[in-house]
Amino acid sequence: MPPSFHRSRLRAVVRPSPFLPARAIDPVHLREQVLAIAVAVAAASVLAGNGVAAIGSTLDEEQRTAALPRPQSYSVSAAAPIAPALREDFTVTWTPPVVYPLGPGAEQTDGFGHRIAPCPGCSTDHKGVDWTPGEGTPVGSIADGVVTAVGYDGTFGLRVEIEHVIDGQAVTTLSAHLQDGSVPVSVDQTVEVGQLIGAVGSTGQSTGPHLHFEIHVGGAPINPVPWLAENVRTEPR
Ligand SMILES: [Zn+2]
Repeated sequence: MPPSFHRSRLRAVVRPSPFLPARAIDPVHLREQVLAIAVAVAAASVLAGNGVAAIGSTLDEEQRTAALPRPQSYSVSAAAPIAPALREDFTVTWTPPVVYPLGPGAEQTDGFGHRIAPCPGCSTDHKGVDWTPGEGTPVGSIADGVVTAVGYDGTFGLRVEIEHVIDGQAVTTLSAHLQDGSVPVSVDQTVEVGQLIGAVGSTGQSTGPHLHFEIHVGGAPINPVPWLAENVRTEPR
């Protein structure tokens, strides 16, 4: 088959594609264009991570090598300013402004409000909450504050009152029936949140070792349980 016939046959069967420029189907350059496309496909295949195995039979080693991405290198001048990683030692400390006086797990044996008096002389209007964590359990101040009363009376036994300012509000706490000799704080003393103020006992009108705990907001007793649930913070917020 003479070359001229071959070319004319190609010219006859290859029609211009509307998607290719005219020179792309020039039969004279068709073979090298096919090869160029094959190389481009090989390069795309390598870039896609598929390797060159699929087109290995149509490309010789030199073409395959040419299709592979060339290794690159660069250097950085030693004079280039590289900022040292500065690191200052620091410690984040966060003190919760409000904590439970006994921790959150103490068993509650009597709630806030009206009740049947548990003993002769016990009130029917319970202005606090009773917890029974056991005799001698440490009692802490729920917040920073100032001790306003320490002493005995017939109802509360050994008691401690502390004034706090919590979220801008005057809050007073009363811890009662404390164990004899367990109170390490005195009137006018400043205390910090969580500071030991006494131990659970059974002094005064008491049926057994328990902490009677009151919270007064604006001078009026409130239910300590929901107030603590709302105000105790274990994390910054
Ligand atoms: Zn009580």
